[in-house]
Amino acid sequence: MTDTRLYIPKPRTVEGGTRDLSTDLNPEQLRAAIHPGGPLLVIAGAGTGKTRTLVYRVAHLIDTGTPPERILVLTFTRRAAGEMLSRAERLVGSATARVHGGTFHSSGHRLLRQFGPSAGLPKDFSILDQGDAEDLMQLSRGALGFGSKEKRFPKKETLHHIYSRHVNTEIPVDDLLHAEYPQFLDWQQEIGRLFADYTSRKQERNLLDYDDLLLYWLLMLESSESLASQIRALYDHVLVDEYQDTNILQSRILQAMCSGHRNLTVVGDDAQGIYSFRGANFRNILDFPRQFPGVTLVTLERNYRSTQPILDTTNTLISRAEQRFTKNLWTERTGGEMPWLVTARDESQQTRFIVDRILALHEEGTPLKEMAVLFRAGYMSADLEIELVNRKIPFEKWGGLKFLEASHVKDVLAFLRVIENPRDEVSWYRIFMMMPGIGDVTARQIMANMQERGWDPDAFTHYAPPPRARDAHAKLSGMLRALRRRRAGETTAQEKGIAEEIGIIRDLYDGLLKERYDRPDARLADLDQLRTIAAGYPSRSAFLAALALEPPQNTQDLSGGGDSEDDCLVLSTAHSAKGKEWDAVFLIWCVDGWFPSARCIDDEAQLEEERRLMYVAMTRARNHLYCTYPLNVYSSRRSSDYSMDQLSRFLDRGVREKMQRVTMGEDPVAAPAPAVDPMLPAIDLRAMMKKRFGG
Ligand code: ATP
Ligand code: MG
Repeated sequence: MTDTRLYIPKPRTVEGGTRDLSTDLNPEQLRAAIHPGGPLLVIAGAGTGKTRTLVYRVAHLIDTGTPPERILVLTFTRRAAGEMLSRAERLVGSATARVHGGTFHSSGHRLLRQFGPSAGLPKDFSILDQGDAEDLMQLSRGALGFGSKEKRFPKKETLHHIYSRHVNTEIPVDDLLHAEYPQFLDWQQEIGRLFADYTSRKQERNLLDYDDLLLYWLLMLESSESLASQIRALYDHVLVDEYQDTNILQSRILQAMCSGHRNLTVVGDDAQGIYSFRGANFRNILDFPRQFPGVTLVTLERNYRSTQPILDTTNTLISRAEQRFTKNLWTERTGGEMPWLVTARDESQQTRFIVDRILALHEEGTPLKEMAVLFRAGYMSADLEIELVNRKIPFEKWGGLKFLEASHVKDVLAFLRVIENPRDEVSWYRIFMMMPGIGDVTARQIMANMQERGWDPDAFTHYAPPPRARDAHAKLSGMLRALRRRRAGETTAQEKGIAEEIGIIRDLYDGLLKERYDRPDARLADLDQLRTIAAGYPSRSAFLAALALEPPQNTQDLSGGGDSEDDCLVLSTAHSAKGKEWDAVFLIWCVDGWFPSARCIDDEAQLEEERRLMYVAMTRARNHLYCTYPLNVYSSRRSSDYSMDQLSRFLDRGVREKMQRVTMGEDPVAAPAPAVDPMLPAIDLRAMMKKRFGG
C-alpha cells in the first residue's frame, strides 16, 4: 500500500485545454505566436488567422512566464477584446482574466484616472461622448456670438469634426479648411478662437472628450520622463489587433509605450482600412518598419475562413484597389457554391429573398446566429427589420443602435452627470432646456451664475429664477437636494445606489417625458432597462464612464452580457462587422450611391475606402455569400423620389464573372404586380394628398 498523500484543494481556476501549437497554427502563424520579443508586424489579408495568432501569442506569453497583468491587448471594441481573451482562456486558463484588454480610449481613460493627478488633471473628470462634445461646441459657438442664426458659420457637428480631425491627424486646422471646407476659409480666425474657447471650457468644467483621452495619454508619455517611465513600466508586452485602423496619435502612443522593451506586436491588413473618416491612417501599418527598425515581418496568405469561390470574388474585388501590400488569398477549401448576385425588383422583393433564404438555410441546419445581413448604413435594414418581426425571426442589430443617443436616455444621464460633476455644463444646459419655463437665455444666465459661484453644488438652488421658471426651479432644486441627501447618508451598497438615483430622477422626469411625447410607453421601458443596466455597475462614475467610452454595439452589450445565448440572426453595418465571420452573409443594397455611399463618390480617397469596406463585408462569409440589389428604389431617401438604380460600381464585370447571377421572379402566391414604366408613374399619390389640404 502506498503512503496516504496529502491533498490540498486548489483555488478553483479554469484550466487551459491541452494543445499543440504546431498543429493549431501553420508555420508562419507559429513563428509570430512564439516570437521571443522585439517589434513584430503581422500583415496579412482577411481570414488568414491574424486574430487567432494574437490569441495564441497571449497564451504563449502567459505560458512562458509573463505575468498576465503585464500584457496589454488593444482592440477596436471592448467586445473584440473580450472575445480574444476568452479564447485565450480556453488555452491557458483563467489567468487571462488579469490581462489588460480594451480599446485605446478605455486604456487611456484608465491611465488618466491613475496618473492624471500627477499631470495636473483632476481625478474626477467626466467624459464627453461625441454628441456631448458637439453640444459643448455649440455653447462655445453661442458664447462667441455665432448663435444658430449665423447660417454661414459651420455647424456644431462640422466644427467638432474639423477639431477632431485636427487632433487625430495632426493636420493644421488651416490646411484642413483649405482641403475640405474652403467655404469656411473666411472664418479661419474665428474657428481658431472657438477651438480655444472649447478647450478652456472643457478644462474649467472638468470635462474630457474622446480625443483628449488619447492626446493626454500621449502628452504624459512625451512630456514628462518620470511619468513616462512609470507608465511604460506597467507592461512587458503590448499587442494590437486591426492596426490598419489606428491613427497617428495611436501609433505615437505605441512608440512611446514600447520605447524601452520594444515588445510590440501589431497585426493588420492594409486592404481593410475603413476608418480614415475618423483620422485613421492605414499607412501606419506600412510605416511601421520605419518606426521600429529591426522589426520581424510575418505575412500570411492562406485563408482559413472562406471557400475558394468566395475568395475568387473578393480577391478580384480588392485587386482593383490602388495601393495594397497584402496579396491574393488562397485556401484549401476548394468546394462550395459561387457567391450569388441577386437582382430584385425592389426593396420588398429583396427583403423577401433574404427572409426566404434565411429560413431555407435554417431548415438545412444553419443556426440563425451563423448568418448575418450586412449593409452600408444603419437605416438600410428598416424594411427587413419589420419583416423579421412579422415572421418572428429573432435578430439583434449591431452598429447604428441609438439607445444611448435617444434623447430620453440622454436626459436621465444628464441628471446623473451633474451629480457626478457639478461643473458639467453640457448636462446642466440639457436639464434646464427640458424644464418648463426655462429657455436658452435663462439657461445661460443660470449657468453664468453657477460659474460665478465656482460651480458650488448648491449654486442652482440659490439662484433666483424669473417668475415663469419658479415652479421648475423649485422642483429641480428639490430633486437635486434629494439626490445629494441620499448621497451624504449613503450606507447601502453602491450598486443599489445608482439604480435608486435613477428612481429619484424619474420621480421628476417621467412627468416631463409624458408631457413631451404622445406615446411614452416604449421610452419609459427604455428607462427601466437603463436602471437595470445601472444596477450592474459598482459606482456611478464607472457606469457613466462605461457608457461614454464604449457606446454599446447591441442590446447584449448593453446589459453587459457576452454573446447572446439565444439563437438569433445578426444585422450589422459593414463597419461593425469588422473582424467577425458567419457561415452565410447577405450584403444588401449593392446599389451605386448606397454602397458606395453617394457622399463618397466624388472623392477618390473616400471611394477607395468604400471599396475596402465592401471587401471587409464580403470577406466575413465562410460558405455562402449573397449580394443583393433592388432595381427600383421607391423612396424619398434620395433626392429623386423614384429611380432605376445601378448596380454598385465595385461589382464590375470581372467581379460579376466570379458570381452566379440570380434574378428574382414574381412571387407565385401574390397577385402579379402591375407592370409599371418606372419613368412614368401612373399617379402621383403625394401630389394628391397635398391637394387635399389645399396645398
Ligand atoms: P480578419 O482580417 O477578418 O480580422 P483574421 O486574419 O483575424 O481575419 P481570424 O479571424 O483569426 O482571421 O481567423 C479566421 C478563421 O480561420 C477563424 O475561424 C480561425 O479560427 C480560422 N483559422 C485561422 N488559422 C487557422 C489554422 N491554422 N487552423 C485552423 N483554423 C484557422
Ligand atoms: Mg481579425
